[in-house]
Amino acid sequence: MKLKPSLSINAERLHARIGELAQIGKIGDTGVCRLALTKEDREGVELVRSWMEKAVMKTRIDPFGNLIGVLEGRNAAAPVLMLGSHVDSQPYGGRYDGVIGVLGAIEAVQTLVESGIQPEMNIEVVAFCDEEGCRFNKGLFGVRGMTGKLEDGELERTDKHGMTRREALLEFGCDPAEIESYVFEEGRIATFLELHIEQGPVLEAMGQPIGIVSGISGPVWWTVEMTGFAGHAGSVPMPMRQDALVGCAKVIVGLNELAKEISDAPTVGTVGSLSVFPDSRNIIPERVSFTVDFRDIELVRRDRLEERLRTLIEEACREHGLTYTIREDTRSEPRFCADWIKGLLSQEAAEMNLAPPELMSGPFHDSLTMSYVCDYGMIFVRCKEGISHNPKEYAAPEDIELGAELLYRAAKKISECKRGDAHG
Ligand SMILES: [Zn+2]
Repeated sequence: MKLKPSLSINAERLHARIGELAQIGKIGDTGVCRLALTKEDREGVELVRSWMEKAVMKTRIDPFGNLIGVLEGRNAAAPVLMLGSHVDSQPYGGRYDGVIGVLGAIEAVQTLVESGIQPEMNIEVVAFCDEEGCRFNKGLFGVRGMTGKLEDGELERTDKHGMTRREALLEFGCDPAEIESYVFEEGRIATFLELHIEQGPVLEAMGQPIGIVSGISGPVWWTVEMTGFAGHAGSVPMPMRQDALVGCAKVIVGLNELAKEISDAPTVGTVGSLSVFPDSRNIIPERVSFTVDFRDIELVRRDRLEERLRTLIEEACREHGLTYTIREDTRSEPRFCADWIKGLLSQEAAEMNLAPPELMSGPFHDSLTMSYVCDYGMIFVRCKEGISHNPKEYAAPEDIELGAELLYRAAKKISECKRGDAHG
């Protein structure tokens, strides 16, 4: 039996805040709906802001709707240590996704302040606006805005009621005109740390309360269309058929087998959506269109999988007399966490009598965007049965405490270092 680590953070305060924020936009007993830039989102942001102020942070909301709290360091000109995540949710979401990263960060800062520690550089805690992307069908808005990575036309994207993001930002109290003149100051941020629930079943299966993220895997998204020839299901002899659905079935099974081939690799492959034409019980399927999602943290391994998947599609089409097209919808590269942060996190965890395993993140997070502008690290907290984006989402209080404590200890270590990146 391992010794339970003694905590510096105030766990009760953290849990009380998680519970209080979950009352805003509450659905059912445990779920929340706080869509980005809505009234509920604003109400949540104001509550979070009041907690930042209790932790002696100066707060502001930037033109992208990000809530930022600043704890002043000795050297206000030094590149900052940033901590955070998001507090917006899916329409049928849970109370932990994003929230523990923001409230855990506030807890870490408040603990520093209450211990009389002034950091070397400024620490900024951010609740990023619209990480989820469900309202305007494009996520990571706030973090992309802050780091100067918005695309053309993003303010004109509409929600399902026809309201543009520009209008939603105005209603939220932001001035979209300021976005035009905004310039991200390269090098302003030294380090970013994010605490988040795992949203997958790996830690639970390993019996581990927390884990250290190795990186965020890069997804490739395709839409594949295979075309054969329709015919009467009762009359066309089997050897003469060009059945697109049979060819597609071979690809689905084949992808599943390819992704499983290296048993200890985190490779995943999924066909999640499929449509059949003409979709009739007595017509041989002429055309099938389906989505492919495959991810890996190792680009070389993902490239190899891709090559073999292309061969598989080619062979299935040749065998069944089909033609095909592949449309690429997304291709992201894997983004690795900084080695020095992973090292620091395991060191600090060891002092808590913990040995958190390293694991990859399949889903993306605000950290994905931050990885392009600074070193980043992530701590994952075990979540029950890997369920997330669902009111059933659950993380045990004692697991969240450990994650927040590790965040605090890492932030304390980094903030003692003059360079803000704890290398030297
Ligand atoms: Zn999240």
